[in-house]
Amino acid sequence: MASVSNQQITRRQFGAIAATGAAAMAMNSEANAARKSPGWIDAHVHVWTPDVKKYPLDSNFTVEGMNPKSFTPEELFAHTKPSGVDRIVLIQMSFYQYDNSYMLDVMAKYPGVFGGVGIVDHQKTDVAKTMKKLASKGVRGFRTHSHGDDAKNWVNDEGMANLWKAAREQNLAVCPLINPGDLQYIDALCQKFPGTKVVIDHFARVGVSGTIEQKELRTLCQLARFKDVHVKTSAFYALGKKKAPYLDLIPMIRQVVDAYGPKRLMWASDCPFQVQDDYTYDPAIALIRDRIGFLSGSDKQEMLRGTAERVFF
Ligand SMILES: [Zn+2]
Repeated sequence: MASVSNQQITRRQFGAIAATGAAAMAMNSEANAARKSPGWIDAHVHVWTPDVKKYPLDSNFTVEGMNPKSFTPEELFAHTKPSGVDRIVLIQMSFYQYDNSYMLDVMAKYPGVFGGVGIVDHQKTDVAKTMKKLASKGVRGFRTHSHGDDAKNWVNDEGMANLWKAAREQNLAVCPLINPGDLQYIDALCQKFPGTKVVIDHFARVGVSGTIEQKELRTLCQLARFKDVHVKTSAFYALGKKKAPYLDLIPMIRQVVDAYGPKRLMWASDCPFQVQDDYTYDPAIALIRDRIGFLSGSDKQEMLRGTAERVFF
């Protein structure tokens, strides 16, 4: 597995070279290793830093509300590396709202390791330009987060239309974090903007109540008729019985595999939340990697790497 620690590479292989040169070389060799690597991809992780001076929080958030206090890439790698994950899609953290700079700096520090999903203010008239600028720095998707029942307003919202159109034109993904009741609005948006790539987070939270409702799952699977819709099979700690080894989620995974096929599904942990309290990282990837008999070797390659690689790298 490729090392994702600059320090390690620097120490082992570039010890004699001047510090800056060594760091740059280490990053390049790491990026090349990641590109060629057979390692897995975790398609959904958030990072943040306790350094709120350099990276201020949005006014709706406080330092007290950050839990854990810190989740830097280095803290993340301690969980991902032992499980063979060497590339990761960062999802802009809500603490920073529209200021994507911490995520971008992390991506720049570890070239080739991270894809990015940013957050933009879709009500701004220059949203397409902002998306283009972020795309030039490696951002491949944009998160839309429904609060309460506001997703119903997305369908006829001019700003949301601009975002969906710009995403289609620039071959970027729209990544809705929604509840099952919002799926009907994504369906309407897919009809309105055919060809826009969509990646739905965490099975659209079907099962978050503790029960996997068949009706909701069917609605999620109906979206598979739009060929550009993808689903993250992710956030296992938060769904169904919410307990490792998460075997109760297998029937839900089977249904989305039957509807979408593995080439439109991608596994993700949703760290740091997958590693809080008694939860640990490996059981989340192990569910897909080791525990599902109906997934072939190539199905797993797609769900654990191929799909996320095509969409986000
Ligand atoms: Zn998340």
